[in-house]
Amino acid sequence: MQVDKAVFCPLCERSVSLCFNITESDLISEDWFFCQCGGWFHKGLFDQKIFNIDYFKKFNEIREIKERIDYLIRLYAPLIEDGTYGRRFLDVGFTINEMMSKMKDRGWNCYGSEIIDKEVFENKFPIFSGDFEKYKINEKFDFIHLGHVFECFDSPRDAFTKVYFLTRDEGYILIRCVSPELIHTLGLKGFGHFQSNEKRFFIPMQWFKNMANLLNLDIICSVKNISKRMNIWNDYHLLLKKRTY
Ligand SMILES: [Zn+2]
Repeated sequence: MQVDKAVFCPLCERSVSLCFNITESDLISEDWFFCQCGGWFHKGLFDQKIFNIDYFKKFNEIREIKERIDYLIRLYAPLIEDGTYGRRFLDVGFTINEMMSKMKDRGWNCYGSEIIDKEVFENKFPIFSGDFEKYKINEKFDFIHLGHVFECFDSPRDAFTKVYFLTRDEGYILIRCVSPELIHTLGLKGFGHFQSNEKRFFIPMQWFKNMANLLNLDIICSVKNISKRMNIWNDYHLLLKKRTY
């Protein structure tokens, strides 16, 4: 449907005039705006309080979640370990400890950042507790993983810049995000990510590539992922490396 008052895309700041009312479940339907930059966003209810112990429990119930995280690590860790000597790892929005545990087994010093109350987690790793966008971290890391957190940030641009400054020279950033490009291929049902209470945006991969170019990050690999061997699919993976020059 046509939008009757000016709405601006939070990703590219263009005026957006196209909006679709999407039925997300029996109880929820939401107006999702579609921008010519390829991004999708909504202006409905999104509350970070949804990331609580119930969310943690639900995440833990994903079938074979540990094997799926192991698969992700087996794909990317050898590439990263070959390209940098540093071994400080930060998992932003980790939800469960598994990636940190497996990276520790590979010799990494692991840190987590999580908005879910830290009392929920076993006290195995140092945790920056709270909203990643809000607190200051005076440390740097050789590998930062952000799995499906950019969709929830207030400002993906500010969060990305923060990640850049937290990354050491020659360090790597692995971003996994819902791929809005796949909506057109898979249809609304097949896509499966319209959940306005958990996500604010769908960010096109090209947005991150443009940001990477601005910040002098090398794009090591970029893939669209539809594999159900991952814990989340119909998304993309973008591995970036910070240049030393
Ligand atoms: Zn846009």
